[in-house]
Amino acid sequence: FKAKEQRGSLSFFSDDLTTAVRRRLELEQRLRRALERKELCLYYQPQWSIDGAEMTGVEALIRWQDPERGMIPPVEFIPVAEQSILIGMIGRWVLHEASAQIAAWQRQGLAVPRVAVNVSPQQLRYHYLPDEVAEVLEQTGIAPDLLELELTESALMAPGQDTEKMLNALRALGVRLAIDDFGTGYSSLAYLKRFPLDLLKIDKSFTDDLLESSQARAIVETIIVLGHKLGLGVLAEGVEYEAQRCELERLGCHQFQGYLKSRPLSVVELEALLAAD
Ligand code: C2E
Ligand code: MG
Ligand code: MG
Ligand code: MG
Repeated sequence: FKAKEQRGSLSFFSDDLTTAVRRRLELEQRLRRALERKELCLYYQPQWSIDGAEMTGVEALIRWQDPERGMIPPVEFIPVAEQSILIGMIGRWVLHEASAQIAAWQRQGLAVPRVAVNVSPQQLRYHYLPDEVAEVLEQTGIAPDLLELELTESALMAPGQDTEKMLNALRALGVRLAIDDFGTGYSSLAYLKRFPLDLLKIDKSFTDDLLESSQARAIVETIIVLGHKLGLGVLAEGVEYEAQRCELERLGCHQFQGYLKSRPLSVVELEALLAAD
């Protein structure tokens, strides 16, 4: 009886697995087509000085406009892309698209904010990022300091790559470097003094709990002090309430980003906001 039950659950499990694999391959194929058909686009979320008075930059966030399924958020396809060579193609496209957008805004005479681009750990691992960045800078002719690369701690800690050398090469190109989701990765603090960084982005989970949890508050305070002492900018992600912004300002945080002031915007929406200034 027991064995039978076990076999039953085993075959159930394996059916499930096959379905999962099939679904993943299907998604991968659709994503490949989406890339060819230019169904991917970038939204841009404004980043603000902590008092909310000045837009200091925008973060480029990828979206997939599927003609049948509508807008698909990155959590639903970036992890799949990361398991295939698609992430390299997507990463390259994002870098190019964001840089070309900066150049287009400049041609339109809009006050161009800095654009931050998310870099996947796999992209960092399997592609030599300085070469890709040098290429888009050359192709688009934009000032390098208008481009910021968001890297994660785990990506920087990955073994088997000379991260320090690569980051120095990126720095030599003049682009800015930020650590995304700071405080959530599996990493040591030692790299902060070795790597040429510009910005720490406090993860949204800490912002969320800032007012309710003394632990979250202690972490946020510490990240801000760390940033100050190391001469790095500090930006808080996911700020939704004025009380959070207020507390972050009191603690000395430099910038924030979040629904409190703006959601990720389409190019048209952002252009309207830039033109209104
Ligand atoms: P992330 O880089 O940490 O981006 C922040 C996410 O938080 C974005 O979700 C943004 O829309 C959301 N967000 C911002 N402010 C608020 C807020 O006040 N409240 C709430 N609830 N959410 C807020 P999104 O656009 O869905 O992106 C999710 C993740 O997908 C990103 O996290 C990033 O890791 C990844 N991603 C997005 N675009 C790209 C890309 O072009 N390339 C790569 N490799 N990854 C990307
Ligand atoms: Mg990011
Ligand atoms: Mg983040
Ligand atoms: Mg995050």
